[in-house]
Amino acid sequence: MARYTDAVCRLCRREKMKLFLKGAKCETPACPIERRPYPPGDHGRGRQKETEYMLQLREKQKARRIYGILEGQLRNYYKEATQSKGVTGERLLQLLELRLDNVVYRGGFAESRNQARQVVRHGHVQVNGRRVNIPSFRVKVGDEVAIRQKSSTMIIIRHSVDTLSRSVPEWLSSTFDNLSVRVLDLPSRHQIDIPVAENLIVEFYSK
Ligand code: SF4
Repeated sequence: MARYTDAVCRLCRREKMKLFLKGAKCETPACPIERRPYPPGDHGRGRQKETEYMLQLREKQKARRIYGILEGQLRNYYKEATQSKGVTGERLLQLLELRLDNVVYRGGFAESRNQARQVVRHGHVQVNGRRVNIPSFRVKVGDEVAIRQKSSTMIIIRHSVDTLSRSVPEWLSSTFDNLSVRVLDLPSRHQIDIPVAENLIVEFYSK
């Protein structure tokens, strides 16, 4: 699966806000947004016309960047959200939150979603006792996601658990002793703390 491999801090600068893509560095003065809070490139500091389309596009790109997914994947999530019951925008975010890499990140076992994706890809995670190495795997209510026993001493995982400053959202319940997290419920919008206006994403795709 293709993925973005350039400097991730450029993505935050493009959105002119912290997207917290790099874990610990994001909380320090070394975060490039602190020094250069404008888009990268020669015209980064120029004035940009804020058209309706531009606003919708930026929200859509923000969501893609936060969850680290490709355009086609986000479009597929949107299509699925439109076919589900409930508010399309909220359902879209719910589907993104239920990705396995996101649950590993939210559960506190990785510093960032990028790192969580790597932990999953490298086979360190199991769902209901079975190894799963697909970051986009969708968890269900009642599932237990756990770090495999033989991966439990890995430095990046121990470091994330020991230095976790985020709180685990209410729809998950983490047990740090055995490095597992249980999905208690579907996340509702107020439990999803991402700075994205999902209605603009829906408008973008519904054209
Ligand atoms: Fe974004 Fe974190 Fe880089 Fe700051 S350090 S620009 S928040 S990824």
